[in-house]
Amino acid sequence: MTGGPHGPWSEVAPAQWEDWRWQQSRRLRRPAHFEDSVGLSEEERAAFAATTDAFRTSVTPYYASLFEAGNPHCPIRMQALPQAGELVTHPFELRDPLDEEAHMVAPGVTWRYPDRVLFYVTHNCPVYCRHCTRKRKVSDPGSAAAMDSITAGIAYIAGETAIRDVLVSGGDPLSLSDERLAWILGELQNIDHVEVLRIGTRNPVTLPQRITPELVDVLRSVRPLYVHTHFNHPRECTDRAALALNMLADAGCVLGNQMVLLRGVNDDPETVLTVNRWLLRHRCRPYYLFQADMAEGITHFRTPLSRGLEVVDYLRGRISGMGVPHFVVDLPGGGGKITLTPDYEVSREGSEITFRNGTGGRFVFHDVD
Ligand code: SF4
Repeated sequence: MTGGPHGPWSEVAPAQWEDWRWQQSRRLRRPAHFEDSVGLSEEERAAFAATTDAFRTSVTPYYASLFEAGNPHCPIRMQALPQAGELVTHPFELRDPLDEEAHMVAPGVTWRYPDRVLFYVTHNCPVYCRHCTRKRKVSDPGSAAAMDSITAGIAYIAGETAIRDVLVSGGDPLSLSDERLAWILGELQNIDHVEVLRIGTRNPVTLPQRITPELVDVLRSVRPLYVHTHFNHPRECTDRAALALNMLADAGCVLGNQMVLLRGVNDDPETVLTVNRWLLRHRCRPYYLFQADMAEGITHFRTPLSRGLEVVDYLRGRISGMGVPHFVVDLPGGGGKITLTPDYEVSREGSEITFRNGTGGRFVFHDVD
């Protein structure tokens, strides 16, 4: 797919389609916006009404144009439109599954690991993903990071020399203006002990027009800058998204993808393989394959842990190691990330260990003391 205007948006002038502010201002937010363009099923209509207060709906025309017409189970649609599953509650679900609020040491600054912090700078995203783990605050203007709290967060980071790595997140930091983003990144870069800056953004997926030459100039001035994005499905892998990734890579950003394994969206090894091959072609390394968290209202998206193991097992041998992400569970209660790997050992006799490889072959390896 090219990612250009088509379907209900085929009359939109290309220059308008390319304007990220136009895309932001024309986001589909209310049922009528969807009825008039991509339509709504009965179930979606009911889920829309029931979820409005809990988690907003917002979809850029670009992302909505990736919906597969006539497919109520389209994987793009499922990520963007409310579903009945969100209304089903389970006793094990958690409002803040990673305990980020309890680990908040200053406004917006969550410190869970010895040398790195998460810095929440906005509640806004072009598309509110139905599987978002921060549903408790993302999309809620009440959680918006005001300028004085961002300033306080930066001051805290400046005062803690153990912090070497800052992940600027939200919400989506690219929802901020170039000027605001340049100021935040510049302030952080000026702190001697901050060695690594990272941005978590889904804009290359949901609003690739946001990656403008002006933005890229801002990012080019920050070193080193890692950009983590979030492609989940081949329909998101458009020519327009590829251009955004290549602009970021040309600006010297180190790109990584954090995919979330979602039932009915990408819980199929070939789907993940297709996305990962495309990502490598565009200089974005598959970094994590996340098990969906135990967040409220997303259990219908979750897959068994065994599915994630099957996916990485399938990838091994079919794509270079660069394309095999870590399959990760972010433990509830702030336990942090652990990596799960398939078991390749078949048997062991003395120093002889029989392993299987990713495509089923068996090979004997002689270990040493
Ligand atoms: S872009 Fe990220 S922060 Fe925003 S809704 Fe999606 S998953 Fe949540």
